[in-house]
Amino acid sequence: MYSYYNDNTILYINGEFRKASATTTDLYGQSLHYGYAVFEGIRAYKTANGEVKVFKAKEHFDRLQRSCELIHIPYKFNNEELIAACYKVLELNNMEEAYIRPLVFCPPNMTLKAASEAHILICAWEWGAYLGEKLLRVMTSSYERPNPKAFKIESKSAGLYVNSILASQEAKEKGYDEALLLDINGYVAEGPGANIFFEKNGKIFTPPPGNILPGITRATVIELCHELNIPIEEKLFTTDELKEAEAAFFCGTAAEVIGIDSLDGQSFSKPWAQSLGKVLQQAYKARVLEKSFQREAQLV
Ligand code: PMP
Repeated sequence: MYSYYNDNTILYINGEFRKASATTTDLYGQSLHYGYAVFEGIRAYKTANGEVKVFKAKEHFDRLQRSCELIHIPYKFNNEELIAACYKVLELNNMEEAYIRPLVFCPPNMTLKAASEAHILICAWEWGAYLGEKLLRVMTSSYERPNPKAFKIESKSAGLYVNSILASQEAKEKGYDEALLLDINGYVAEGPGANIFFEKNGKIFTPPPGNILPGITRATVIELCHELNIPIEEKLFTTDELKEAEAAFFCGTAAEVIGIDSLDGQSFSKPWAQSLGKVLQQAYKARVLEKSFQREAQLV
């Protein structure tokens, strides 16, 4: 089992830096019992000039705030202070490249009333590419993404991740690397923890917001497409259309950009090394490391 902390690990909780091993939580918490909590996943990188930078820190904390507001968890935190706390956690733990996990959670309350106060935790650990480096064998999940009329699905809420765990587990049990979930209308939505893109005829496609978590990596990939003059379109599509694609990839903070080998055993036609996804994978890596990137150089 991966150990996320040791006896020396320091975390941030409600304005203080404390030893993880000496910090406790209340077993009667509303978050623990009902999954009523919100979290973020952020990465810090050591950039080309040697500095440690938390990538898109403001975007992640803005989403944390919005996620709380959508499900009525009071958010009385100052995002600039929280970003400074992320840097301090990295420094206190001697970390340069790390995954940072802010979590907003609620105190004891066994009723189903919205919380009137909330706590914040920020911890960090060293984490390699979440879905590995190899191309992924993906299966269409028998689980759908949650119905947007049954939940605020744009809120990165803890409870929603039971759906992700079920889908991931099913895929692994069946011998695949990862799941792909459809929305309630049968269109492709996203992976359990990543957004999906595909390539066809020189163009990149991805599902529009509405039935997905609008990922910060997804937004970065769209930005990179604009900068690199790669045509990009947001549209709904089915798995039949996806299977006709030349190449596909997942993207997310933890997974970064990772190519997909096949969907339900059917391989994509273009070698990953020649795909636009590969160009975007390299451009994404360059962006987080604050290195310059020339598309032309990658095509030779
Ligand atoms: N979809 C889901 C369901 C996720 O859990 C994640 C990871 N946060 C993503 C997409 C990608 O989001 P981001 O790029 O902001 O990490």
